[in-house]
Amino acid sequence: MTYQNIDINISEDAKAMLQVVRKFSMEVMRPAGIALDKLCDPGDVTAKGSILWDVFKGFRSLGLHLLQIPKSLGGMAEDLDPMAAALITEQLGYADAGLAISLGVSCMPFNSAAMFPVPEMQQLARDFCADKDFKMIGCWAITEPDHGTDWTLGGDNPRCGPSVKAVLKGDEYIVNGEKSAWVSNGTIATHAILHVGLDPTKGMEGQGLAIIPLDLPGISRSKPLDKMGQRPLNQGSIIFQDVRVPQKYMVIPYPEFIKASAGQGLAYVNGGMALVFAGLAKAAFDEAYVYAKSRIQGGKPIFEHQNIKLKLMKMFTMVEAARANARRMAVYNRMNIMTPSVAHAVAAKCLSTETAFTVASEAMQIFGGNGLAKEYSIEKMFRDARASMIEDGVNEALAIKAAEYL
Ligand SMILES: Cc1cc2nc3c(=O)[nH]c(=O)nc-3n(C[C@H](O)[C@H](O)[C@H](O)COP(=O)(O)OP(=O)(O)OC[C@H]3O[C@@H](n4cnc5c(N)ncnc54)[C@H](O)[C@@H]3O)c2cc1C
Repeated sequence: MTYQNIDINISEDAKAMLQVVRKFSMEVMRPAGIALDKLCDPGDVTAKGSILWDVFKGFRSLGLHLLQIPKSLGGMAEDLDPMAAALITEQLGYADAGLAISLGVSCMPFNSAAMFPVPEMQQLARDFCADKDFKMIGCWAITEPDHGTDWTLGGDNPRCGPSVKAVLKGDEYIVNGEKSAWVSNGTIATHAILHVGLDPTKGMEGQGLAIIPLDLPGISRSKPLDKMGQRPLNQGSIIFQDVRVPQKYMVIPYPEFIKASAGQGLAYVNGGMALVFAGLAKAAFDEAYVYAKSRIQGGKPIFEHQNIKLKLMKMFTMVEAARANARRMAVYNRMNIMTPSVAHAVAAKCLSTETAFTVASEAMQIFGGNGLAKEYSIEKMFRDARASMIEDGVNEALAIKAAEYL
């Protein structure tokens, strides 16, 4: 902590939990993220014996996979006050944004399953809550090689519709197509929340949503994606070839229901991104502040030079605006889970990710040449932040979409 945290209005229990999360995130996640980022072969990130599994183990053993699932299914959603939940997510992003995303996405299909009052889905959520050995890992499979922003913008143009299609035959859907190499946890996931095309005449408005296990015959994976930022976050495509998906896994089988739930999905995903990258923005500020206090130029710490003070104060202002905004949105949306504010969630995602990028860039300037050196973590934070403005929807496209919800 480089400056006082003024969001102290949480219970003593929540404060204690946050303390435990802070310890885990800084002692396990931060060093793991730095080590995983340095691996040349992205396949090594998820190899047997990789430090990644210590991160998953710690996350599950602290029960952090239970935060969104109701108590009746084994979760702890009602036990945690909304601000504490927001602070926990922000702290994970502070430690390592790519790993925070990997952990968050690992819960996604199961958190969603808990919302569907269907016995199979409720059981899936229950099994996930009981799974301390991370045998169940989730992913969100939406982007396709030829449809990225098309998914963000939606619409009824058949030329912009899903390439992964599901055709109902008897009591099964036959699924064919490919989800892109950008699917987070795509190389390790056991379950997916999967967007498919049901009615090709309606473009993206003809889609359905399935929650499926990924060990069904006909499903294969590509090699892991090699990329610039968030390297500890494994990504890879998922290919479907005549996959027989039992009808019970198609949780939204009617395109007309998708429109109603699309807002919830947008709010959920963007809400998490906003908190994680507000955390990264703060981490980049802290690195710069500590460095400025110790680096001597002109015969004194560079912090004592007016230009550095001004820079840091501007960064501080931006970081606090992003954190306050993300937290306010997260508390509201957690308390209104069925009717969240999509506009606030997207605004917070865009503000946090753009703040993280600007602050990491300014921090790099404060570091001078050292900012570019692998020895310091600021160049990694800069790369991680850059990816976030494209992640889960290009910011410009998200803003255009969210305007419809104003
Ligand atoms: C770190 C990271 C994690 C991700 N995780 C996941 C995940 O878990 N699951 C998943 O499914 N996907 C994931 N994605 C994919 C992500 O959602 C897509 O990359 C994003 O939606 C953009 O799609 P694209 O890359 O195909 O870009 P494109 O859609 O090709 O866009 C390229 C450019 O063209 C512009 N553009 C595109 N269409 C239009 C239009 N109609 N009008 C105006 N401008 C347009 C865009 O704004 C952009 O600047 C992830 C991406 C990243 C970077």
